[in-house]
Amino acid sequence: MVSRVIPVDPFDLVIFGGTGDLARRKILPGLYRRFCSGQMPEGARIIGAARTETDSEGYRKIVSDAIHEFDPKSAQCGKLDAFLSLLEYETVDAMGEAGWNELRPHLRDGHVRAFYFSVGPSLFGILAERLSHFGLVDDESRIVIEKPLGHDLATAKELNATLGAYFDESQIYRIDHYLGKETVQNLMAVRFGNILFEPLWNAQHIDHIQITVAETVGVGGRGGYYDKSGAMRDMVQNHLMQLLCLIAMEPPSQFEPNSVRDEKLKVIRALQPVPPHHIVRGQYDATDSEPSYREDVENARSFTESFIALRCEIANWRWAGTPFYMRTGKKLKARTSEIAVRFKPAPHSIFGEDKETGSQPNELIIRLQPNEGITLSVTIKEPGPGGMRLVNVPLDMTFAEALGEEAEAPDAYERLIMDVIRGNQTLFMRGDEVEAAWAWTDPIIEGWQARHDVPKLYDVGSAGPDDALMLLHRDNRKWRDIKA
Ligand code: NAP
Repeated sequence: MVSRVIPVDPFDLVIFGGTGDLARRKILPGLYRRFCSGQMPEGARIIGAARTETDSEGYRKIVSDAIHEFDPKSAQCGKLDAFLSLLEYETVDAMGEAGWNELRPHLRDGHVRAFYFSVGPSLFGILAERLSHFGLVDDESRIVIEKPLGHDLATAKELNATLGAYFDESQIYRIDHYLGKETVQNLMAVRFGNILFEPLWNAQHIDHIQITVAETVGVGGRGGYYDKSGAMRDMVQNHLMQLLCLIAMEPPSQFEPNSVRDEKLKVIRALQPVPPHHIVRGQYDATDSEPSYREDVENARSFTESFIALRCEIANWRWAGTPFYMRTGKKLKARTSEIAVRFKPAPHSIFGEDKETGSQPNELIIRLQPNEGITLSVTIKEPGPGGMRLVNVPLDMTFAEALGEEAEAPDAYERLIMDVIRGNQTLFMRGDEVEAAWAWTDPIIEGWQARHDVPKLYDVGSAGPDDALMLLHRDNRKWRDIKA
């Protein structure tokens, strides 16, 4: 089975910050892959814009180097020269007047016009204002921004209001790249495209849900930023929250932007405040060879968490009584992101209660990385003549082999940028969703600040502080092992 590639219409895409890390690592290699696949048309234009003094030729060299460095496999597709010929560059300073009028000739009337703000968030509002001031915005224009979308509810509202002064909500694309992942969309297909799961998708049949996003890296060179943010703001408020929404939302009436986002918003608004004993925060400790979190961020008195685990509840008819456990952290045992839906045990075991041989509760694992895929564990009879012994086996629902190599899933950024061009906002966050997520997050953070909560130390390469294990032990449950 080979997936169909439907080319998008020709477009003009201006990447502010086109020389930066995100552009070179993700956006440009992603666009190149779409070009190789035939989805990005020859008539497209990509215009890099930043303060760096260079010209279109210099920019093509920067992009060529980036593609070779960050995606050597795709660099081999044989269309690099054709792709590079679509690139242009203009030196523009967001804070000044220079370059703005020169940007205009790069933009064609009658084409989709997208502006990717791949710059620090302090420039988002300024760029929106400048674009409008220099008359570069038309009805076909759209802007793309990415986290951090505010630092709290007040700043998120401020950002929404600033962008809203120049762009309609239908023109603002807020990326959460987790939503661009193949498996995350597959989760919706599995839930809403089959009759099997939905009748069981509630507190009556689901015991609990675990959402884990574990990293092996520390804060790296982002120490200054990260220490002001922490795992709650950097990961839970956005990525984990979005995953929780897709798991918990009611079926939208249509797979259409506002229907989907309305349902996600209802989930966020139904999230209960989290009491202190349902929150565990941690900081990674030093090893013989590696610095501690506090050394990494150069703040000996930092109380910011590099790990957090939470027990959350959703107050609605579907989910009352089913806990959602979320955890994320740095320098953990393995790099993995997954959602585990643990069903309740069968109401009565006709095969006896022996733990070794009896039936096990079903578990649906939605794995985002590595090895994206969905697995359902089911109980079957162990093959052979040894009597009625039961085993739990994984049923692989990704059909990767059936789809074949040509159906290789596009990277999240590629898919989302193509959605921007197509004008499909379904997989992007709406402004009120972002604000609702902050409205839930803020009191949790204010709570631990008022209590002067000190994060617990945890070992590098562990599953986080022991208290995080206790969070589930107290409920007679267990976290899944963190493994790649
Ligand atoms: P970066 O490497 O520091 O790049 C910033 C870009 O902005 C550079 O191209 C820089 O080029 C340009 N720039 C800075 N000041 C400017 C100005 N006054 N006018 C015009 N251009 C200006 O940052 P990044 O890692 O790419 O991150 C960009 C944004 O994406 C940030 O908001 C970040 O939080 C977000 N993000 C990044 C990643 C990632 O993987 N890197 C992941 C998620 C989110 P010049 O110096 O030449 O002007």
